[in-house]
Amino acid sequence: MLDLSYRTEGEEVMEKNRRSFLKFAGISALGLGSLSVLSVLATDKAAASSAEQAAEGVFKNADNALTAEHWGMVVDTRKLTEEICLEMQKACHQIHNVPDFEEKRHEIKWIWATEYKHAFPDLPNEYLTERLKELPIPVFCNQCANPPCVQACPTQATFQRADGIVLMDFHRCIGCRFCMAACPYGSRSFNFRDPRPGIKEENPKFPTRMKGVVEKCNFCAERLAVGQAPACVEASEGALIFGDLADPASEVRTLLKENYAIRRKQNLGSNPSVYYLV
Ligand code: SF4
Repeated sequence: MLDLSYRTEGEEVMEKNRRSFLKFAGISALGLGSLSVLSVLATDKAAASSAEQAAEGVFKNADNALTAEHWGMVVDTRKLTEEICLEMQKACHQIHNVPDFEEKRHEIKWIWATEYKHAFPDLPNEYLTERLKELPIPVFCNQCANPPCVQACPTQATFQRADGIVLMDFHRCIGCRFCMAACPYGSRSFNFRDPRPGIKEENPKFPTRMKGVVEKCNFCAERLAVGQAPACVEASEGALIFGDLADPASEVRTLLKENYAIRRKQNLGSNPSVYYLV
């Protein structure tokens, strides 16, 4: 079970909704329901919207909250090293209680490093520079402006805020993994086992998850709410730049104006909010 100390009254309601959904899904699986799960859930809109509000309540804004019209990230690969990538992952995973299991099949990842050819398979380059060939490229949720994961989620456990951040309400997740199938970037992980034994040093300020729940990077929404930059940005030694893509005067926009940038799988139409300077 999730840590109840984080639960508000609204979250208790969500848990009841989640149980009702599971009960209904069970009936459907037995062939007793001819209606699609999605059509039935459409009648549950009001509950879903209150769930979103309750989930956002976890990240309730303080007076000094960082706000934007559309949050985005620029990854300046020219400033990256393997050590910096490791520090960014360490900072993110420690703050968000991401478990560390040795077995690959139980791995949970919010941010990780991969090779250029895996990060950008649609941009092959036979004559790629040695630097890019060897450089670990940090990848994470792209906080897509048009997120297919949100459209695929039958319980609205994953949703998009007005500032573009795609969040998860862990209490509403039923573990169907439709969002994982929909995400073209492999940015989501599924807890095949209870993650808690894999957490080295639990951060009491962030909820732990449970077996059967999907999770992913949240652009540090809980830190933005109290005026702090994302943990990976702080650990990046200037390689990650975070800001408002809608503000032409922001640092991210200035960088994008002055440098050529690429995004992951741009042709799919998901419109990632993460840009890479190469
Ligand atoms: Fe959703 Fe994947 Fe896009 Fe993140 S990268 S918003 S999980 S589709």
